[in-house]
Amino acid sequence: MKILVTGGAGFIGSAVVRHIIVNTQDTIINLDKLTYAGNLESLKSIEGSERYFFEQVDICDRAELDRVFNTHKPDAVMHLAAESHVDRSITGPSDFIQTNIVGTYNLLEAARNYWNNLDISAKEAFRFHHISTDEVYGDLPHPDEQEGVLPLFTEQTSYAPSSPYSASKASSDHLVRAWLRTYGFPTIVTNCSNNYGPYHFPEKLIPLVILNALEGKDLPIYGKGDQIRDWLYVEDHARALYKVVTEGAIGETYNIGGHNEKQNIEVVQTICNILDTLVPKDTRYAEQITYVTDRPGHDRRYAIDSSKMSSELNWTPVETFETGLRKTIEWYLANQSWCKNVQDGSYQRERLGEINS
Ligand code: NAD
Repeated sequence: MKILVTGGAGFIGSAVVRHIIVNTQDTIINLDKLTYAGNLESLKSIEGSERYFFEQVDICDRAELDRVFNTHKPDAVMHLAAESHVDRSITGPSDFIQTNIVGTYNLLEAARNYWNNLDISAKEAFRFHHISTDEVYGDLPHPDEQEGVLPLFTEQTSYAPSSPYSASKASSDHLVRAWLRTYGFPTIVTNCSNNYGPYHFPEKLIPLVILNALEGKDLPIYGKGDQIRDWLYVEDHARALYKVVTEGAIGETYNIGGHNEKQNIEVVQTICNILDTLVPKDTRYAEQITYVTDRPGHDRRYAIDSSKMSSELNWTPVETFETGLRKTIEWYLANQSWCKNVQDGSYQRERLGEINS
């Protein structure tokens, strides 16, 4: 197969590109604008492959999208390009509206135009896989608020996004489903929980805490730190996405999760404990924890029911939170130069997403 991956220089996209190049005979066309979050250094291990092509293109640029489709003639699209950081969406929603909504619309139209002109067998085999988030569902009851067995997000859960980021992703999901229903365009949607692992830009909780801890800086916890996320190791997600694009059914939605519900404070304490053993010092890393004002509109709990992925596509995560987190920390310890290069002076792990006016 020839797969056009958008956002392949980002955190999850680069894991998808590495996974496919290493484990299959497929060809990848990586289409990425290279925003602050996109880094070709994350693809060094596979950039020499003759099955890998890179196109620096903005998904808002329709003419360029048409050129890429006509040049490379892909069999499938895996759409990961997005603005992805909730805090940045609070400070500046505009890029999220442009890329996540307008960009997805442009990509759908470029892909549909290309698909319309394929011969019948290529048309039947074509897939447009839209990669989305569990944040579109809003938040779930927290153990503080409800006793007993707590609900999980299923593929039937109604959308109720809380942040500009999740609202823009929800909009893009709706566009993708409308293109299926209205035009018969062969789409599949996946909604995944929080990912973690190597090559994660250090604005997100886990890499930020690892790097701040090592530099002796504060480890900022939003609110009480009791927000619950369902953590999935990024390579498990990449494997799941490849299964969906190759074996998933047209028109279906698949929820992908890690069965790892953890409070943010637990995550940070676990990182501190692992660092205490891997990089011991006179004081304990947990002493660097500080509590800061909560994120506006912060969702309290996310948790995914991924039973459809396991029963229909025979996928389950391989990593537990403990094994995945240890691998992640070891990767950051061994790849300090990647961390320095991707921050390139424009971002110093400062607080983002506070509302001042
Ligand atoms: P990321 O921010 O690390 O990477 C996004 C990539 O998209 C970057 O390489 C960036 O350069 C590129 N990009 C941004 N705007 C673009 C544009 N206009 N045109 C072309 N390329 C552009 O994001 P990520 O964490 O890898 O997430 C990838 C996808 O998965 C996103 O759609 C996100 O919503 C979704 N997702 C993320 C998570 C998570 O925990 N990170 C969980 C579930 C779903």
